[in-house]
Amino acid sequence: MFGSRGQGSYREAMTKLDDRPTTAPAAVAASTSRIDVDWLGEYLLGTWADARRAAMALAGKPEFQRQDDLTLAEQRQRVLGQLGGLVKDGMVHRAFPVSVGGLDDHGGNIASFEQLVLADPSLQIKSGVQWGLFGAAVLHLGTERHHQKLLPAIMSLEVPGAFAMTETGHGSDVAAIGTTATYDKAAGEFILNTPFRAAWKDYLGNAGIHGKAAVVFAQLIVDGVNHGVHALYVPIRDDKGFLPGIGGEDDGLKGGLNGIDNGRLHFSGVRVPRENLLNRYGDVDENGVYSSPIASPGRRFFTMIGTLVQGRVSLDGASTLASKLAMHIAITYGSQRRQFVAGSPTDEEVILDYQRHQRRLLPRLATTYAMSFAHEKLLTAFDGVFSGARASDADRQDLETLAAALKPLSTWNALDIIQEAREACGGNGFLAENRLTQLRADLDVYATFEGDNNVLLQLVAKRLLTDYSRRFAGADAGALAGFVANQVNEAAVNRTGLRQFAQNVRDFGSTARSVGYVRDTDSQRQLLTDRVHSMVATLGGRLRAASKLSALEAADLFNQNQNELIEAARAHGELLQWEAFTEALDGVHDPGTKQVLTWLRDLFGLGLIEKNLAWYLINGRLSGQRAEAITSYIDDRLLPRLRPHAVDLVAAFGLKPEHVRAPIASGAERERQEEAREYYRELRASGTAPVDEKRARA
Ligand SMILES: Cc1cc2nc3c(=O)[nH]c(=O)nc-3n(C[C@H](O)[C@H](O)[C@H](O)COP(=O)(O)OP(=O)(O)OC[C@H]3O[C@@H](n4cnc5c(N)ncnc54)[C@H](O)[C@@H]3O)c2cc1C
Repeated sequence: MFGSRGQGSYREAMTKLDDRPTTAPAAVAASTSRIDVDWLGEYLLGTWADARRAAMALAGKPEFQRQDDLTLAEQRQRVLGQLGGLVKDGMVHRAFPVSVGGLDDHGGNIASFEQLVLADPSLQIKSGVQWGLFGAAVLHLGTERHHQKLLPAIMSLEVPGAFAMTETGHGSDVAAIGTTATYDKAAGEFILNTPFRAAWKDYLGNAGIHGKAAVVFAQLIVDGVNHGVHALYVPIRDDKGFLPGIGGEDDGLKGGLNGIDNGRLHFSGVRVPRENLLNRYGDVDENGVYSSPIASPGRRFFTMIGTLVQGRVSLDGASTLASKLAMHIAITYGSQRRQFVAGSPTDEEVILDYQRHQRRLLPRLATTYAMSFAHEKLLTAFDGVFSGARASDADRQDLETLAAALKPLSTWNALDIIQEAREACGGNGFLAENRLTQLRADLDVYATFEGDNNVLLQLVAKRLLTDYSRRFAGADAGALAGFVANQVNEAAVNRTGLRQFAQNVRDFGSTARSVGYVRDTDSQRQLLTDRVHSMVATLGGRLRAASKLSALEAADLFNQNQNELIEAARAHGELLQWEAFTEALDGVHDPGTKQVLTWLRDLFGLGLIEKNLAWYLINGRLSGQRAEAITSYIDDRLLPRLRPHAVDLVAAFGLKPEHVRAPIASGAERERQEEAREYYRELRASGTAPVDEKRARA
């Protein structure tokens, strides 16, 4: 089967499948460049290739995969059982300290864990709740005493647990949650209370039925002072049900991820010992005195939240994998499915040979590659911080900004890619057996949890503005205006810069020169970078007045610019993806592979520019001629060049039949098509074929 690397079977399978285009001469010319699929597959597996391979082997086993015909209760029970299987395998313990039986391997942990999405997103997310949220909160917010006492039972699943941060009333604004943990000095205990209905904890994985404990986030009140949100370890259930003072509800059926028992919790006078406070960033001593290594409550809160960034990192990876799966299914099917005769009187066209079909799928394939390379960079940054190898304050901030920029893009992209793949497979795409509808339903909420996408992008925008204002604090309007020009210079990397802009007029009329400009790497970088810098500079200029306004007026001013702020952050994230793709090209040495990946990177970069052509034209960054050249270069050059390599490009994702599990991508469509064609061939040869009405009349 294609995609099964290391078995020497790929070329053979390709020859048999013959999924290459039947038309498009430009494409045939382009097919002289060949991709080294086996090498590319390895390259895509990245730094943690072994961890990924092991997890993929596990995700390929039927006992870890989703079964469609189960009731809600059965699904939840099955996924809980699968978590037990993961414990036996040991893969989920990688991130935990060696002192409690883990491997202290942070990058490898995420790389393997995200592969579970191929088996069942519910399995990925439920194990994420247990070990990536509940366990990770004890690990990163707790100290040695918690590690030794609590982690072994969490790692072994003896204590399934919930990560109880969100409340019905506050999800994005965690700092405003209502749950309180008030210190009782005499008893040496914290008392947890839920003051009103909106402060019920909500949507918590494992809280519906399976959770026996929870890490509960609450306002920590000591001696009448609120020290802000802190986390406490709280037992919630035994075999008979909720413990005294604890109540809750099952969230019931959801729009996806129904293998997980999400639920609500509330607390009435629930007492836990002082030692249950996860005290890495804030503690209460025997005398009832609060202390923290971080003086500023705001910084303390963001530091605590920052330790939990791994959820965002893994969602970025899982969305990328789900996109690879969707692309594999749609491109395999599209290269076998035939519909309508066009050039030939007898042979119907393969649907991926239609330009529109290529326009729908190939740019999304390019995006998937960009997501994959960007994710590798994110994972490397994550591992650097959590292993301690590159863990300065600046490294941490960069990691958080990178995660906040990439997670929204990849989760949104995945939904778009899966939906387009679904439609590209026609009616077959809608059948549950072909997985795309369920995959989309399960991934839907990835855009919301671990930080709502629109809210995360605002964090990115804030960082962009902070960097900007640090550089230009006190600058006058003239200096600000100069900033735009300077940034353009920098963006140009001193090769294409303003000089190129000046050529806009001169190359007017020459399509060839315009094409030469838009496909150049430096021009793409310049255009993408310039857009981000200009947007940030414009916003920075507008928001500079805020410091002189009242709080109300400043908030108003900020709100008037909020949409553009989010757009600037999105543009920044897209630039990071493009840079990651471009940097990845440096590691490709086989000329054929490099050529094809460069076309694919061009398709990604030019696709981003094309999407924002209005901005480039309005702001005078592209001439009409060059703007037009972008669209025609995509349609006339890149799509036909890439079409012959589409099957190779998805084969490099390395998904085997046990990962794909979609009958339409199994080769069955090709067999059906061949049977039908053979039937008509024989009929024509027999001379007994009925003559059609028009010919009969003639
Ligand atoms: C299936 C599922 C599982 C979950 N698992 C857990 C879990 O295990 N533990 C846990 O603690 N939580 C969990 N959550 C909660 C999740 O993290 C929150 O739902 C999420 O943070 C969003 O919060 P919210 O639902 O209150 O939405 P809100 O914050 O109310 O957002 C609603 C909408 O308003 C927009 N919005 C909000 N603020 C702004 C703003 N300032 N500017 C512009 N727009 C804004 C958002 O973009 C969003 O579209 C889960 C949620 C779901 C659905």
